Amino acid sequence: MVYIKSASEVEKMRRAGKVVYGTFEALKPYIKAGVTTKELDTIAREFILSQGAKPSFLNYNGFPASICASVNNVVIHGIPGDLKINDGDIISLDIGAEVDGYHGDAARTYAVGNISDEAKKLMDVTQQSFFEGIKYARHGERLFSISAAIQEYVESNGYSIVRNYCGHGIGKKLHEDPEIPNHGKAGHGIRLVKGMTLAIEPMVNQGGYATNVLKDGWTVITADGSLAAHYENTILITDGEPELLTDLQR
Ligand code: MG
Repeated sequence: MVYIKSASEVEKMRRAGKVVYGTFEALKPYIKAGVTTKELDTIAREFILSQGAKPSFLNYNGFPASICASVNNVVIHGIPGDLKINDGDIISLDIGAEVDGYHGDAARTYAVGNISDEAKKLMDVTQQSFFEGIKYARHGERLFSISAAIQEYVESNGYSIVRNYCGHGIGKKLHEDPEIPNHGKAGHGIRLVKGMTLAIEPMVNQGGYATNVLKDGWTVITADGSLAAHYENTILITDGEPELLTDLQR
């Protein structure tokens, strides 16, 4: 069941989204060689709490940290720990915050120091695939038109879109209906209606789309060891352009 949000619910989600955006801004100066992913997690948690919000991911299905920190070949759900990031790495940070019972969820991939041209292109294509997808995030469009646009852009750039994980509705729960695959057939899927809030999140692999999960039960890696990137925003379907609740658009 897909929940349509009321104006007052949307207002809470805007506030949650703003906290998520602010957390990325708070983290950016610390994304440097030598920092551990656990240190980034601590900075994020303290910032979220300082805003009167709660980290959505902490203890979610038992997840042991406030953010996901996924380095290089880790696609998503990397657990913050003692791993130090190095010059030339890419790191995907996925952050959720809850305000007054409503969630915001977003992810960005960052360069650590100087990265290869290939890694930079992967990051750029991943981010742009989100924007290609949300061209169809409009009242009256079909959900899988978003999926198809993401897939087409990613594959036309020579990369693979991860298929085992997808985006999702979001609101009172971090993960609500509908599931939003990042591949699919344009013109199919549910019809989008204003007031829907969706987390659109392409996960893009440099090599094949297959993934494996490490023994910790969380960390998702590319099966072939290639690099992966992730980009996500929580958006609101409106009468016109979608509103990006976790980005600076307001
Ligand atoms: Mg998400």
